[in-house]
Amino acid sequence: MNIKEFGGEFKLIEKLSRTARNKNVIVGIGDDAAVVKFGNQKLIITSDMMCEDEHFSTTYYSPKQIGIKAMASNLSDIAAMGARPLYAIVSISLSDKTTVEVVGEIYRGLYQATDAYNVDIIGGDTTHASILVINITLFGETDNGKIITRAGARPGDVIKVTGPLGGSEAGLRLLKDKVRGFERVKKLHTEPSCRLDISDQIAHYATAMADISDGLASDLRNICKSSGVGAIINREAIPVADDVKRAALLLGTLPADLALYGGEDYELLYTLPENFSDLVPGVQIGKIISNEKIYLDNKGERTELTQFGFDHFL
Ligand code: ADP
Ligand code: MG
Repeated sequence: MNIKEFGGEFKLIEKLSRTARNKNVIVGIGDDAAVVKFGNQKLIITSDMMCEDEHFSTTYYSPKQIGIKAMASNLSDIAAMGARPLYAIVSISLSDKTTVEVVGEIYRGLYQATDAYNVDIIGGDTTHASILVINITLFGETDNGKIITRAGARPGDVIKVTGPLGGSEAGLRLLKDKVRGFERVKKLHTEPSCRLDISDQIAHYATAMADISDGLASDLRNICKSSGVGAIINREAIPVADDVKRAALLLGTLPADLALYGGEDYELLYTLPENFSDLVPGVQIGKIISNEKIYLDNKGERTELTQFGFDHFL
């Protein structure tokens, strides 16, 4: 059976995973990062891979941007746990057409993304293949031992996001369609940053958190599934930047759809008790409910959300 017929990436991971045997595994498969007990500390570990012509195309990504994005997606998963990144292991496969200069530029991007957080690249692997692949494993720690998983959302919690969404998907479509202009929007796709700048502050109050890598719909579904709750999202409250709205118009799509089904925005999606909501940055987009379904409220009209974000196999 092919993976599409089987139900896609998430179904496959579910089938492959088994419960950890070691009692030091605090969070195993199924969150933005794994967490293990390590002495008196908690070690946070995540891994993300990017493949040529699947995650990026060398026709509209500079080598440096490939490095920036590969690192940002990993940093974002550490941010989503409320943790701080420490060390990276970088493995790359290079094709016959990859030059020394190109690899140097990829590393310039990797180091640019890590420099703000004092992350060191401490190892990796280099091999040859028909396409360029970059895989990063990132290790992190927490200050006070607190981590935020996807599993703590409670009915009545508000749902917030740290910033405007849909920009990355808009940028991708602009690049694919070779549309002129919209340089800022295109960079949202090729040079994303993560929200380690405010994740610490949020982790103080959040009951659940995930980064938005597969689209708001998909990442919210992950939180709801893990927490055993549902949600109501106010479609009009989903923040989208003005230039992304203009791009959506040009691309013939709705701004909120870019946010819901696009992905790779690397903003944080989190829940917290309503009385703490004003203490943390972000935009409120909905509420957690006990009924394990996700509804989209569009000017008072409520429909169940049945379409979800990106899956490599669907
Ligand atoms: P994210 O989008 O936050 O990077 P993913 O959707 O890639 O997370 O992965 C979801 C969960 O599945 C994570 O816990 C990840 O570590 C785990 N996972 C993904 N692929 C595999 C695999 N091949 N084997 C084991 N675990 C995996
Ligand atoms: Mg993630």
